[in-house]
Amino acid sequence: MRVALVLVLLLAAALIIASFAVAQAPAANEVGRMMILEYHKIDYPEERWTRTPENFRRDLEALYARGYRLQSLNALLDGRITVPAGTTPVVLTFDDSSPGQFRYVERNGALEIDPKCGVGILEAFVREKPDFGRAATFFVLPAANPPNRLFNQPEHVERKLRWLVDNGYELGNHTLWHANLGKYDETVVRTQLAEAQTWVQRYVPGYQFRSLALPHGVYPREVGWAMSGSAKGMSYNHTGILMVAGGAAPSPYAKAFDPARLPRIQAVERDLNYWLTYFDKNPGERFVSDGEAATITIPTARREKLRSDLPKTLKVVER
Ligand SMILES: [Zn+2]
Repeated sequence: MRVALVLVLLLAAALIIASFAVAQAPAANEVGRMMILEYHKIDYPEERWTRTPENFRRDLEALYARGYRLQSLNALLDGRITVPAGTTPVVLTFDDSSPGQFRYVERNGALEIDPKCGVGILEAFVREKPDFGRAATFFVLPAANPPNRLFNQPEHVERKLRWLVDNGYELGNHTLWHANLGKYDETVVRTQLAEAQTWVQRYVPGYQFRSLALPHGVYPREVGWAMSGSAKGMSYNHTGILMVAGGAAPSPYAKAFDPARLPRIQAVERDLNYWLTYFDKNPGERFVSDGEAATITIPTARREKLRSDLPKTLKVVER
């Protein structure tokens, strides 16, 4: 009798928890907007282009607590949102390959990733919260002057680039040495983009950049030069071009989505707070995943935001 009562109580508790969880999960809205965050230095002191290791860690905690999960940029460019149902994708990008983003340190004769560098902090956080996901894109400078040349430890460059690619991270084009693409003719623009890839392929054979982050946010005279082409025996093909500002990005399923003009949010205290608060106050604006890659779930009221040229393989579900 007692056992039966305990079972009934446990069942009731489970049902209450389950219904609470369902009620708590935000409804899917896959035409909402999302954040593509842009980091520069992870270092001291906190400045316009520098986030301290502690603040970077706090950013990850704030994102996680509010239901954001890491999204691969390349998957997003393919129209595949991979985060779980009820969560919002967030893309992390790191520009300029500065030393604080990825550093090796020697401890007891062995090399390890510095727990205070960007990659170290991210890895530690993902170990604690595996459901945060694991993704970030590094827009590297292969031929910049030190300290921005491929994270500034020449003896470990190959190890770092391979480690990133082998562990679910992505590399992106940021030109050879941060060239302002608006200042040059077509040949120089194409050479900058193609040779950046040639340099990276010396360390990671065959690696193809899928995206370009514009140095200084400046487009070349013709966008097409930046998208695809070849120079000096190397061809490049960028599916996405990222700007340096512009706010939250449209859903890849929305009419407003333009892969040649993807806006980013600079991950500094003020801008990040602004957007976290914005989405807290305007939950209906926020992309919320349905957890199914093959279906696009949207509120009926937002149907007109949907692109009309979506692949037929994707099923649209209204709610
Ligand atoms: Zn840059």
